[in-house]
Amino acid sequence: MHTLSLEEICQGVFLFTIDNHSKNKLNASMRHVVAIFQTCLMLVGLPCLANQSYLPPNLPLSNPTYQVAENIPQAEPLTGDNIPLAEPITSQGESIPLAQPLPDSTPTIPGIPNFSMPFFSQALVPQNETRVAILGYHDFSSTKPATEMRIPTSHFRAQMQALKNSGIAVISMKDFLEWKNGEKKLPAQCVLITIDDGWLSVYTDAFPVLAEMNFPFTIFPYTQFMTGRGTAMGINQYKDMINYGVTVGSHSVSHLYPKSWRTAKRQGPEALDKLIQKEIGDSRTILSNHFPNISINTYCYPGGFVLPEMTEKLEALGYEAAFTVIPKKVTKDTDRWQIHRYMVYGKDPKTFNRAVTFNESGAAPSLPTQPQRAGHQPAINNPPPLQAVQPLANSTSPDMTPIIAISMAKETDFDPSSLMMRISGFGKVQAQYDEQNKNFAWKSNRPLVTNPVTVQVRWKTLSSGTWRSASWQFNTKETTSTLVPKNIVK
Ligand SMILES: [Zn+2]
Repeated sequence: MHTLSLEEICQGVFLFTIDNHSKNKLNASMRHVVAIFQTCLMLVGLPCLANQSYLPPNLPLSNPTYQVAENIPQAEPLTGDNIPLAEPITSQGESIPLAQPLPDSTPTIPGIPNFSMPFFSQALVPQNETRVAILGYHDFSSTKPATEMRIPTSHFRAQMQALKNSGIAVISMKDFLEWKNGEKKLPAQCVLITIDDGWLSVYTDAFPVLAEMNFPFTIFPYTQFMTGRGTAMGINQYKDMINYGVTVGSHSVSHLYPKSWRTAKRQGPEALDKLIQKEIGDSRTILSNHFPNISINTYCYPGGFVLPEMTEKLEALGYEAAFTVIPKKVTKDTDRWQIHRYMVYGKDPKTFNRAVTFNESGAAPSLPTQPQRAGHQPAINNPPPLQAVQPLANSTSPDMTPIIAISMAKETDFDPSSLMMRISGFGKVQAQYDEQNKNFAWKSNRPLVTNPVTVQVRWKTLSSGTWRSASWQFNTKETTSTLVPKNIVK
């Protein structure tokens, strides 16, 4: 039997990636249509942004119940629903307006819990006895069907819950690098969570789940995709997550195919060197300029494609480690420039199980059984929080600017001044706590932009100062497609 070489594996993975990406290439005329459409949206949107008068909400919560609304409508399929916009829109010669920064979405949050854990509940072992399983995800959705690159949010949540229940230590990138550098001991079995590319759903779908589990994670965006347009996250959303201790690493500037790398290699060492400087070096500079308070010290090879010339330059370019897509456990001896990862694809739950199984006889954390459906998943169906909320969890709000509120009436041990609310598409919002009715509430003065809308509320306990959180989702009647030109490209 023929054993696959490293390069063959990389190529195989890459062929798959090309296949996904090439479908999504925009032709020039279509980009033009997008640009005009976005310009119109901007013009319509600006007066809304200008009107910042804030309406303090004080309405009581209406008839709270924990029932999940029946007949949750399926989200309207967007045009070109099956075609994720994976490639950046290169705007050469075209004036595609950049998304306006939202006033609410660049919070400075003092005293935010940092995901990096000061200690582990598991016993620490000598460094060469630790094995780390690194999970890699891409895109998430609670409405669109699963694809290789996109996992249903409910499945992701189930995986994270299983991980939580298993007691396996979920470590931060900082922990991981300190261990690799011989500076830190870790438990025998650890998991590191990474997410590639920079899809908007990282912010709207994965972040609330990971924050709720208190799991640290790392995002590897490619800088051309950080536009805040369509299905791409914007700078403010990264900043918002960085405030919570999320790590950012580089995934190059433009996510080149191996063909481009091979062409440069054929042209000689100078051409290849220039390309390495641009894709691997410049991406780090761009990220460092965007996020001056964090250090960018990890790189993730697009498509897992590695050339020896890349690994030779990484250290000089300021990196400490680089990640591939070869599914194996990482040990102290693993080459730091080719760190293994298990890519968890949307239609393949087995990889997750393999990743989090640490010995031959050991069983993987059991995933809750879920009804599997072909085609569209239910719009949203996450467990509602214990607190009364409005709009109700998993319901559909007819109002595009509803009052969003949570009742703290049953919480006896919390610091009202620590309360904070975050809404998908807005980031941290200036919600107000009403002492009398015990509601923590906020009303938007512009339409909610994501569908479903994810709300997360956090607060500190008075007794121990630990953070608690509640999160829920609801739909709005209109779909995102009327507000954000996402997936409109064939
Ligand atoms: Zn990628």
